[in-house]
Amino acid sequence: RVPDVTVPEFLLAHADEHPDATAVVDGPSGRAVTYGELRRDVRRCAAGLRARGLRPGDVLAIVAPNGPEWLVACFGAMAAGGVVSGINPLYTADEIAPQLRDHGAPVVVTIPPFLPLVRAAIAAAGTDPEVVVLGEAEGATSFGAVLAAGGDDADGEVPAGLVDPARDLALLPYSSGTTGLAKGVMLTHRAMVTNVEQMQSVMRLTSEDRSVAVAPFFHAVGLNVVAGVTLRAGGTVVTLPRFDLEAYLGVIERHQVTVAVVVPPIALAMARHPAVDRYDLSSLRLLGSGAAPLSADLQQECARRVGCPVGQGYGMTEAVAAITLFDATTPIVPGSVGVLLPGVEARIVDPVTGDDVGTEGSGELWVRGPQLMEGYLGNASATAATIDPDGWLHTGDLARCDADGNVFVEDRLKELVKVKGLQVAPAELEAVLRTHPAIADAAVIPVPDERAGERPKAVVVTSGPVGAEEIVAYVAERVAPHKRIADVVFVDAIPVSPSGKILRRLLVAQDRAGALAPAAPY
Ligand code: ATP
Ligand code: MG
Repeated sequence: RVPDVTVPEFLLAHADEHPDATAVVDGPSGRAVTYGELRRDVRRCAAGLRARGLRPGDVLAIVAPNGPEWLVACFGAMAAGGVVSGINPLYTADEIAPQLRDHGAPVVVTIPPFLPLVRAAIAAAGTDPEVVVLGEAEGATSFGAVLAAGGDDADGEVPAGLVDPARDLALLPYSSGTTGLAKGVMLTHRAMVTNVEQMQSVMRLTSEDRSVAVAPFFHAVGLNVVAGVTLRAGGTVVTLPRFDLEAYLGVIERHQVTVAVVVPPIALAMARHPAVDRYDLSSLRLLGSGAAPLSADLQQECARRVGCPVGQGYGMTEAVAAITLFDATTPIVPGSVGVLLPGVEARIVDPVTGDDVGTEGSGELWVRGPQLMEGYLGNASATAATIDPDGWLHTGDLARCDADGNVFVEDRLKELVKVKGLQVAPAELEAVLRTHPAIADAAVIPVPDERAGERPKAVVVTSGPVGAEEIVAYVAERVAPHKRIADVVFVDAIPVSPSGKILRRLLVAQDRAGALAPAAPY
């Protein structure tokens, strides 16, 4: 059973007994915010937003990098009954505009350097929100003025019972848009509270833990796994505005970070990058990875290098954040995304026949549980195509499950390469490619093939001398014939989303346009 409270009440409860404990630290400056200060500012923000006209159900959009104020604005809006929608600040105005139009947010929060971007996005969307800046800027409301409108001690300014946690939305994140247009995901306070509780029941963080939030707060991993679970446990969240490996390692060392939650490209860097040796990472006791496939090999390589257990979790925006997670109290099974969280049911279904596969093989993962979304905003047909009338969410992911309940996610059904009627998971081939000593990173995409329909093509970043023929032969020795690489192209970097997903759609488009220009051979 989860408590019947709002997200800010749930996550900031540590302030009751420990107001002087540090809740958030701004990584670059080292500025610390205590639980007492955070809760006071959240209450002032809530009262200030109400005083300035925010009504329950209104959307507050945030277009800003991670920092303590992101959380104040987020929890403040939620406490006032608002619905928070984080937007990727690396998006262009044309990418932000559809989201602003979709939810019609009457308030958009940003930082001064992003004002031109936000203004261009608002113009493109044709909406007319109030723009609030974290800081000061001409022609925009300052966040300080919002807090001031909330008074100094805003206790009780927001009427009790304003929010019904079981029904009212708290969060409207957009899916990552990896496979198509990003969709607005409607999540209640109850769903978010439930998922944080589910994750904490297996992660078991304590008030001694310090985690680093490098995953963006506009995405499920940053806000719910890192900030959510850490604050619920009474620990400290260290924020970083953008990912830079050295800055990240420096923050772990300087702030004695104990728990790091990363996405696979960062796990890859932690396993292989020479800079890692220059930092003292001995404070780390746990590293978690999620949001995209991480092979067993790389998971173990990363654990050896960093010197602490590396576990995986699997989830999606439609389930707040996590569906499965490694259990920190039992040995980690490499390559597995862990076990189902408490309260979650799953089926593994043959995508063609619709029959349960059980533990016999791979199939589409279907899940049902208390943390699922209400639906996609304004898109009943996409909702109906995702959650069936019995409440099963069809994840679109290919998975299998062993007899002990360990789940293994192979890849997205949509991104499988279809070779002569057989399905090849790009992630499997990418994992094989990355074991080659001269390959730093790799992606696999389908290319049309006259005889086979499609065949896999490798997009490779090298770290030493290696040619296409050698790569083709290397993979051929390690996989079944139908999975062999048909072609290799060399690039400088593999494009990934801020949530760590390989942008295969982009690579396919570039490949079709002949724009995957080969990098100079090593
Ligand atoms: P869109 O739905 O808009 O195309 P998206 O699915 O990438 O974008 P998210 O909700 O951020 O948006 O990501 C969920 C997806 O991420 C899952 O469906 C799955 O494909 C992938 N994923 C998450 N965790 C893992 C993991 N541990 N291993 C493999 N894949 C994962
Ligand atoms: Mg998705």
